[in-house]
Amino acid sequence: MKNILKSTGIESHNEGTSTGSNWIKTDGPGITSWSPVDGKEIATVQTSTKENYDKVVVKAQEAYLEWRSWPAPKRGEVVRQIGDALRANKESLGKLVAYEMGKSLQEGYGEVQEMIDICDFAVGLSRQLHGLTMHSERPLHRMYEQWHPIGIVGIISAFNFPVAVWSWNAMLAWICGNVCIWKPSEKTPLTAVACQKIVAAVFAANHVPEGVSGLINGGREVGEWLSKDARIPLVSATGSTRMGKLVAATVAERLGRSLLELGGNNAIIISSAADVDTALIGVVFGAVGTAGQRCTTTRRLIIHESIYADFTAKLVKAYGQLRIGSPLDEKNHVGPLIDSDAVKAYMDTISKIKEQGGQFLVNGGILEGGEYTSGCYVKPCIAEVQNSFPIVQHETFAPILYVMKYTEMADAIAMQNDVPQGLSSSIMTLNMREAELFLSAQGSDCGIANVNIGTSGAEIGGAFGGEKETGGGRESGSDAWKAYMRRQTCTINYGAVLPLAQGIRFDL
Ligand code: NAD
Repeated sequence: MKNILKSTGIESHNEGTSTGSNWIKTDGPGITSWSPVDGKEIATVQTSTKENYDKVVVKAQEAYLEWRSWPAPKRGEVVRQIGDALRANKESLGKLVAYEMGKSLQEGYGEVQEMIDICDFAVGLSRQLHGLTMHSERPLHRMYEQWHPIGIVGIISAFNFPVAVWSWNAMLAWICGNVCIWKPSEKTPLTAVACQKIVAAVFAANHVPEGVSGLINGGREVGEWLSKDARIPLVSATGSTRMGKLVAATVAERLGRSLLELGGNNAIIISSAADVDTALIGVVFGAVGTAGQRCTTTRRLIIHESIYADFTAKLVKAYGQLRIGSPLDEKNHVGPLIDSDAVKAYMDTISKIKEQGGQFLVNGGILEGGEYTSGCYVKPCIAEVQNSFPIVQHETFAPILYVMKYTEMADAIAMQNDVPQGLSSSIMTLNMREAELFLSAQGSDCGIANVNIGTSGAEIGGAFGGEKETGGGRESGSDAWKAYMRRQTCTINYGAVLPLAQGIRFDL
């Protein structure tokens, strides 16, 4: 692990506040990063103080004045080079992501690949930040709309995608001409320090003004500074619904903008017309991948009654073959939860499932001894429940899969929609009518609706996000870039008189 730290520029004790190349020494308390893989301390990072936070904001304000005047394709060229730097660092950064967060090496590399993909996407986009033109009702007038940057974008990120979610925001915000200040999860501060170092080297080589990429480390109070700060016009926050409600209220109070990517409670409908083998792989990967710690993790299965017994039996057999252990060992399917609080939430949920009348088809529990030294390894489990159970309505960030039966497709869709969250959803069916109904206005109410693939594993080309308590935000592909810009409608009079709109006369 020492080699990984060295190759990503991390030391055992790190400053946590930076305006880009410069690291501001702080007297704040340290955050120790422990690996959930083996429970060992990796390194510490200093928490930002309010005073140093203010220095980062002031530097960002200064940098914005210059950065916004760079042509967008020139900003795109810098982002292209960030993509190259990430390619060069893919292995070391991917390993650090896996070790600090506890996801598999393949998923760690995949997360860095997602960063590279968004860089490529942003480079192309830097030549396409287009607006519309309209015909004016007045003669010798021209109307059009254009998009301008908004200023400082505050990015609050969650532990489970410690680097990709930041890059979705930062790469688009940068090509749009904004500057960014990143408040990473306090559970994964080292991956953020590594990213800041990679970006700083590219920025320095391109003479990008200091302040375009700010980093502030710390807990929720550091995130609150961003939410309350009227100098930050947009706060993009990824995390729990609890956090999102607080951020939304605080930002709204000052009439700022928030972009929210919050919790999910994702279901797959398994129709009687499903290709069972494909469905099974989609369900198991969706439910236990990243130990159930993806916002798009499959949490609920709604299975047609005619295949319920057969499908659940196959599922139980598949769970019996899962190997739980170090995510750095490629033969294992399931790694640890992030920390002991997550393990406690998992155990509390298991108790509540029992109290509320659920029956376990595969039992859960904590794994101890042997390689499970961190105490964060748990067994993926499956429980038969009713969708209306209070615990089923709630997102527990752990590998707990709920199964339930349906008779009519309309009821299955109603059950899929009958939760407070609205992120991802899927149907497994070879019946075209069922698939189209699921995708129609009477179908899934989620931001993501898939047919014959699971709920997790989105591509960056599409807009990512969800409805209801998931927060309504959209990031990444499609026209998500518009969230990082302000729209301006322009009307130009190139005639010699001043006709007023709606035919109003004002003669002097
Ligand atoms: P969390 O809400 O505990 O923390 C997320 C971030 O918010 C952290 O950086 C934290 O310090 C900060 N924060 C917490 N309270 C805050 C406050 N009051 N003001 C400002 N900042 C505050 O979430 P987590 O445990 O790190 O991540 C798991 C959650 O994130 C799950 O609910 C998951 O579904 C969600 N998530 C959603 C998406 C998505 O795109 N929809 C992606 C990843 C994770």
